Amino acid sequence: MEGGLPLVIAGPCSAETQSQTRETALALRDMGVKVFRAGVWKPRTMPGGFEGMGDAALPWLQAVKRDTGMLVATEVATVEHVHAALEAGIDILWIGARTTANPFAVQDIADALQGHEEVTVLVKNPVNPDLELWVGAIQRILGAGVTRLAAVHRGFSSAGAHIYRNDPQWHIPFELRRRAPAMTILCDPSHIGGKQEFIEPLSQLALDAGFDGLMIECHCNPSQALSDSAQQVTPQALKSILDRLVVRSGAPINDELGLLRQQIDDCDHELLAVLARRMSVSREIGLFKKAHNLRVVQPARYQEVMRARMAEAAQLGLTEDFTQLIMQAIHEESVRQQLDLLNNS
Ligand code: PEP
Ligand code: MN
Repeated sequence: MEGGLPLVIAGPCSAETQSQTRETALALRDMGVKVFRAGVWKPRTMPGGFEGMGDAALPWLQAVKRDTGMLVATEVATVEHVHAALEAGIDILWIGARTTANPFAVQDIADALQGHEEVTVLVKNPVNPDLELWVGAIQRILGAGVTRLAAVHRGFSSAGAHIYRNDPQWHIPFELRRRAPAMTILCDPSHIGGKQEFIEPLSQLALDAGFDGLMIECHCNPSQALSDSAQQVTPQALKSILDRLVVRSGAPINDELGLLRQQIDDCDHELLAVLARRMSVSREIGLFKKAHNLRVVQPARYQEVMRARMAEAAQLGLTEDFTQLIMQAIHEESVRQQLDLLNNS
């Protein structure tokens, strides 16, 4: 990596067997990675998935710590996990996105951490794009007396088709940075991208945006992984990625204008995605009208839509002229697309 290696935490989504854990860890150690991650308890969205090896995997992490000198990290979601992980000497505990979304669970974890100032805690963003929920979780952990804490941006669940597994919504971690300039904020490109090919571009973007480090899933045999197979890279692939990443000087994430511009970019990105979705629904309606021999333009419906949108826009503080211009342009394009469907084929 040009310009000096930022903090890199790497390791498998899950510790599956002793040999997989060890083989991955040794390869990472050899390439200079200092912090090893592996999930022991896996909160899965759907029942029936691989839920981690549980307590049985803790000795494998202990062995990695002993034999490689790396710090070891795992996810905790309950008080029992915290006790077991601390007992096993795990150096870094992270709170996963599904847990951060639940204030009761985070408070229980915080209470269990009282008096354990030696531990480092990473707080991933909640699954939903809610900065306050993320900040609240961080405050609960800080309230327990934990002093070594970092936030991890892993993207947000969103409905509909997206390029990435979890929508990055960069403006949210950027706002966190603006509010807490001294806090370490890491980026997890694996859970944002969801695919091997996205790890490098997302990592580069994160470094360019001034994130303090990366958490990347890495497995000695990704295609056989029991969880998150598509997004894990081999240690060799990770090495090539890290070698190619460029660390540029300057921290645009702290730059007020840069932050605001990023928010504009995010808004435009959302606007275009919504417009594309609207046009696709409109084309479906066009096919329905064609099949049922209905007119493309239905004035009563148009009047009603415009009336409702104007009222809604006024509530949002948008001017009448602007709203009319935009809504008319959108409507005209919808009509054009539906007429195209009628005239072609
Ligand atoms: C993980 O790091 O393997 C994990 C489950 O992450 P997240 O909580 O971000 O989904
Ligand atoms: Mn994972």
